[in-house]
Amino acid sequence: MTTKQFALKDEHATIALGASMANLCTKQTTIYLHGDLGAGKTTFSRGFVCALGHKGNVKSPTYTLVEPYELGQWQVYHFDLYRLSDPEELEFMGIRDYFTSDAICLVEWPEKGEGLLPCADLDIELSYSGEQRRVNVIANSAYGSQLIEQLDL
Ligand code: ADP
Ligand code: MG
Repeated sequence: MTTKQFALKDEHATIALGASMANLCTKQTTIYLHGDLGAGKTTFSRGFVCALGHKGNVKSPTYTLVEPYELGQWQVYHFDLYRLSDPEELEFMGIRDYFTSDAICLVEWPEKGEGLLPCADLDIELSYSGEQRRVNVIANSAYGSQLIEQLDL
């Protein structure tokens, strides 16, 4: 499957990657965001939702687990599962109802929900590179490959 790597030299580059990705999505999309605390998962998500028209703050929904955004034709759900202690909590919150045909789901810490989350079209792996960041984008579906091929930073 398709993969691409980029250097992200500053916060703006991470935001630009999120924005580019948002503008490429044409249907239901699930994106997993991997990386240590501070790697840039929420920064990517901010670029993503702002590109689709969100004005205002974007914070990691660490305590609420999910933040919904209604943006034009899309429902964007930004998950942060860092504090999830038991994947079963996802059943209680009705996780399946979030993965609908007009939904784009961005999931920080997807490892915590293993077994209960739908498969991702893309895995985005952010890592530290000195003061900067690196990113590996990995496709897990034909649609995900298409997204990566169109990415041009
Ligand atoms: P996470 O959600 O992965 O815990 P955040 O996005 O909340 O991380 O925080 C990332 C921090 O790193 C922010 O302070 C942001 O300004 C900074 N940052 C984001 N992207 C880059 C980058 N490419 N280079 C340097 N700093 C970055
Ligand atoms: Mg975060």
